[in-house]
Amino acid sequence: RAKQAGRDTFRFFTAQMNTDVLNRLELEVALRKAFENEEFVLHYQPKVLLASGRITGLEALLRWERPGHGLVSPALFIPMLEETGLIVGVGSWVIATACRQIGQWLQSPIGAVSVSVNVAGRQFLEGDVQSDVVTALEVNGVPAELLELELTESSMMANVEKTISTLQSLKRLGVKISIDDFGTGYSSLAYLRRFPIDMLKIDIAFIREVTSNPDDAAIALAILSMAHSLKLQVVAEGVETSAQVAFLIRHHCDQIQGYFFSRPLAASAVEQLLLEDLRLRLPPGPLPQKTL
Ligand code: C2E
Ligand code: MG
Ligand code: MG
Ligand code: MG
Repeated sequence: RAKQAGRDTFRFFTAQMNTDVLNRLELEVALRKAFENEEFVLHYQPKVLLASGRITGLEALLRWERPGHGLVSPALFIPMLEETGLIVGVGSWVIATACRQIGQWLQSPIGAVSVSVNVAGRQFLEGDVQSDVVTALEVNGVPAELLELELTESSMMANVEKTISTLQSLKRLGVKISIDDFGTGYSSLAYLRRFPIDMLKIDIAFIREVTSNPDDAAIALAILSMAHSLKLQVVAEGVETSAQVAFLIRHHCDQIQGYFFSRPLAASAVEQLLLEDLRLRLPPGPLPQKTL
C-alpha cells in the first residue's frame, strides 16, 4: 500500500512538473513574440513632492498587452524575461521608449517631466545600459537630468565594482540614480553609500502597515533618518491612505508614490494629470507654449 501511494505521489508530481514546464515554455515563446509584435507598453505612475503636493516625476512601468489576456502585470513576466536574458533587449526598449516620451512632452505644453526607469540586474551586467542611455537621450534631445534609473539592492550587489563604475559614468552625464525596494535586501545603507545614489525608495512592505505596526514604523523612521543624514532623498512606495500620508509628512519623507495619489496610467491619461498639475502651478489663463 505504501508503495502504491508512493508511486501515485510520484506520478502526481511528474504530471504537475510537466504542466509547469509546458506553461513556462509557452510563456517564454509568447514573450519572444510579444517583443517582435510590439505588445509591450509603458504606463506611468506619478511621484508627488510632499512639500508642494505637486507631481515631481513619473515612474515608467512595463505592461504587456497580451492578446486574449488583457494587460499583464510585470510581476508575472519580468522574472521570465530575466531568466531568459530577454530583459536585455526589452530593457533597452524601455529606456528608449521612456526617453522618446520625455522628448515628446518636452515639445508640448507639458514641458519638462522627469521619468524613472527600472533597470534589471541582468540588464545592467549583460547589456550596455550606459550606451542605451546616451543614445536615447541624444536621439530625443532629452537632458540627462530628466532621466532617473531605479536599481534594486540585490542587483547592485551582484557585481559591485562594475555597478559602481557604470553608475559613476551615468552620474557624470547627469542621470539620477535611485535604490528601489529599499529595505528588502541584505545590504546596509552605509555600504550602499559607495554607489553614487540620489534617492532611496522605501519598499511597500514597510509602508503598508506603517501606521499600525510599530516595527514597520521603526524601520521606516530609521531609513528616513539615515537617508537624510546622508543627504539622500526618500520616496515612500505604495502609499494608499491619508493616514500613511500624514505619517510620512510628519516624519519628513520627501516624496510619495502610490494609489492614494494615482495608479500607474497610460501616457494619454497621465498627460491629463500633468496638465492639471501644471495649471495649479500657474496663474489662471491659457497655458503658455513654453513652460517650466
Ligand atoms: P517597482 O519598481 O517597485 O514598482 C512599484 C510597483 O508597485 C508597481 O507594480 C506599481 O504598480 C505598484 N504600486 C504602486 N503604488 C501602489 C500602491 O499604492 N499599492 C500597491 N499595492 N502597489 C502599488 P508593477 O507595475 O506591477 O511592477 C512590479 C515590478 O516589476 C516593479 O516594482 C519592478 O520591479 C518591475 N518592473 C516594472 N516595469 C519594469 C521595467 O520596465 N523593467 C524592469 N527591469 N522591471 C520592471
Ligand atoms: Mg521601481
Ligand atoms: Mg519598488
Ligand atoms: Mg517592487
